[in-house]
Amino acid sequence: MRISVVKEIKPQEARVGLTPAGVHELVAHGHTVFVEAGAGDGAGFTDDRYVDAGAELADQATAWARAELLVKVKEPIESEYGFLRDDLTLFTYLHLAADRPLTEALLAAGTLAIAYETVQDQTGLPLLTPMSEIAGRLAAHAAAAHLMRPAGGQGVLIGGAPGVAPSRVLVIGGGAVGTQAALLALGMQAEVTILDTSAQRIRQLDGIFEGRARVLVSDALTLESEMRQADVIVGAVLVPGRAAPKVVRRAQLGLLKPDALLIDVAIDQGGAFETSHPTTYEEPTFEVDGIRHYCVANMPGAVPQTSTRALTNATLPYVLRLADLGPEAAIDADGAIAQGVNVRDGRIVHAGVAAAFDDLA
Ligand code: NAD
Repeated sequence: MRISVVKEIKPQEARVGLTPAGVHELVAHGHTVFVEAGAGDGAGFTDDRYVDAGAELADQATAWARAELLVKVKEPIESEYGFLRDDLTLFTYLHLAADRPLTEALLAAGTLAIAYETVQDQTGLPLLTPMSEIAGRLAAHAAAAHLMRPAGGQGVLIGGAPGVAPSRVLVIGGGAVGTQAALLALGMQAEVTILDTSAQRIRQLDGIFEGRARVLVSDALTLESEMRQADVIVGAVLVPGRAAPKVVRRAQLGLLKPDALLIDVAIDQGGAFETSHPTTYEEPTFEVDGIRHYCVANMPGAVPQTSTRALTNATLPYVLRLADLGPEAAIDADGAIAQGVNVRDGRIVHAGVAAAFDDLA
């Protein structure tokens, strides 16, 4: 099969669809891989490394035109709609329910569109988890950096010092993001509490942390008591398919320490704090009622090399299956890939996307 990787042109996106190692695997399976020249520059993968891995370099139009399967990171933006065709399979993050113009473009073109974020196996959402894990780890980095004075923080070292008490980090939501945020904060010797509402997850967390972090059920009283004591609160909640639940209301900001820092990782789902709004790395924080909020919507964007490697690790088994079997047979053979199909033969086939656009479904 002919597989292409193009340069991501969405602003602030430096990741790329496949690493050279991923290209090498596909070539070893007998496939032809085209990589747009410069596609990996932002993630630190030079054209030479792709060529060494067996790729053919191409310009943007050729990479799109030769592809039977196009492996991307972000959804196509308007200037790319013209490349969509009915004999193309597109495998990428799509988030169609929030993107009517792209949904219409895919329907009109008849492209087979498989979305990373809806590929689902028995463990959950395997192509979202790696970015959550990275965002979680970055949340601990952000906490450490923004507690320091040069970043406007209270001027403390997150883990304290010998004889000096560490900061208290409260993680609300102990899933992929929350677990990694807690692990890294603990690694920096912070004092960590994790709250979750799922009894099953609480049990798993208890096993993971073995008493090194406090793991508690998040009821209203416990939440407020923990909020009062926290130096950092990480919002890491998710209710699949829904906007993030608001776990801290504006009226509760007055309960916090005056120099507390809120880090809202769930901002891409509307935010876990009532007072959050999305920010970027250029200006990551803002204040509401004197409380600093950090709400970067695309946290993994800061580490495109790590993110690209983690993404390829997760996507490659599916890319190989799509390429080896052909998309139609792969969809029939693999229930996880079938869940990923959003648009096929000019029709919306994913229930969530159909619910968002009932006039198009
Ligand atoms: P996850 O499903 O693995 O974990 C979410 C956890 O939240 C679950 O354990 C769930 O039981 C818990 N939860 C749900 N409602 C709760 C509540 N009211 N109180 C306490 N706990 C509650 O999800 P995840 O992969 O860890 O993602 C968390 C959030 O981070 C999502 O909104 C996701 O979109 C977001 N995210 C953001 C970025 C970014 O760059 N900002 C990157 C990746 C993920």
